Amino acid sequence: MATSGAPEVAAQAAGGRSSQAGSPAGEPSAASQGLSLRLGAMAAAGPAEVVVVGSCMTDLVSLTTRLPKAGETIHGHKFFIGFGGKGANQCIQAARLGAKTLMICKVGKDSFGNDYIENFKRNGISTEFVGQTEDAATGAASIIVNSEGQNVIVIVAGANLLLDSEDLKRAANAICKAKVIICQLEITPAISLEALKMAYANGVKTLFNPAPAHAELDPQFYTHSDIFCCNESEAEILTGTPVGSPEDAGKVGLVLLERGCKLVIVTLGAEGCVMISVDDPIPKHVPAGKVRAVDTTGAGDSFVGALAFFMACYPNLSMEEVIRKSNFIASVSVQASGTQSSYPYRKDLPQDLF
Ligand code: ADP
Repeated sequence: MATSGAPEVAAQAAGGRSSQAGSPAGEPSAASQGLSLRLGAMAAAGPAEVVVVGSCMTDLVSLTTRLPKAGETIHGHKFFIGFGGKGANQCIQAARLGAKTLMICKVGKDSFGNDYIENFKRNGISTEFVGQTEDAATGAASIIVNSEGQNVIVIVAGANLLLDSEDLKRAANAICKAKVIICQLEITPAISLEALKMAYANGVKTLFNPAPAHAELDPQFYTHSDIFCCNESEAEILTGTPVGSPEDAGKVGLVLLERGCKLVIVTLGAEGCVMISVDDPIPKHVPAGKVRAVDTTGAGDSFVGALAFFMACYPNLSMEEVIRKSNFIASVSVQASGTQSSYPYRKDLPQDLF
């Protein structure tokens, strides 16, 4: 589910992204640090297979019994900081599965920005094109959650909005040599589109996740997406048609296909997803396994990161198989708390996935 749902944020808050202020959650265990070192070494050799152009956000979460009124100061009972932002989340998941990954993004020249760069490094992600600016703070989401799970959230995209064409030009070589590029809409949309176009023109597979969705999406996003992957609510915003079932997803998938994408995936939470493509315009429902979900925050980003990994590293798999495996990875992520902290590492997954 999308990250704005109140119960999800509450579950995430109750669940284990706890950390000391100033030190975002998800500190690695000795074992995962060992893995990071190996991933880091892999990332150093050759061009990145998966390149993500997107956002980094620091989540600042306060738990209170009730939400404050305007002008009021109240006491909360818990505070924690977590790593988020759709671009970074997707990159982290692809890296943990073993793809050579590179992140193109902008953070502030501040402690949150420094911490985020360390987070990328710990996960073996190349930070060569992670810029730091003095002109804006690292993107942040201030989140207050009450005991009923209701929340108020203020997102300040900050440095994310300063990622510009010059940054893309500097990273052009990495973009054009990637196997898969992933873009979303948490940075300036024109920059996402420019990155997609650069990749598309060079035969790089483009994976676009139109989140958060804009009803008036530039039509070029469709024509430059090899894979267009959205959830139910994003599909509804883009097409005006509510999506409540795999049949509905097939219908909106067809609408999106007709706008120019090559393959559309509509994710459906516990129901898995529906795919439809130019090559096979009959919608196909690919169900997810039944699991006990603890916290679905960031499931869509885990799914997108896994898609990119399998497309880049197993190019001979059918798309249906790629989606089945990605469903599995995302369904693992919903069985643990938090966003990035719930994303599985390759070593912890059944090896027949690889
Ligand atoms: P988003 O997080 O963008 O709202 P979804 O909720 O559609 O995305 O979830 C994305 C993917 O995560 C699904 O396609 C599925 O593979 C997996 N997933 C999400 N919720 C569950 C669940 N309750 N059980 C099993 N898999 C899930």
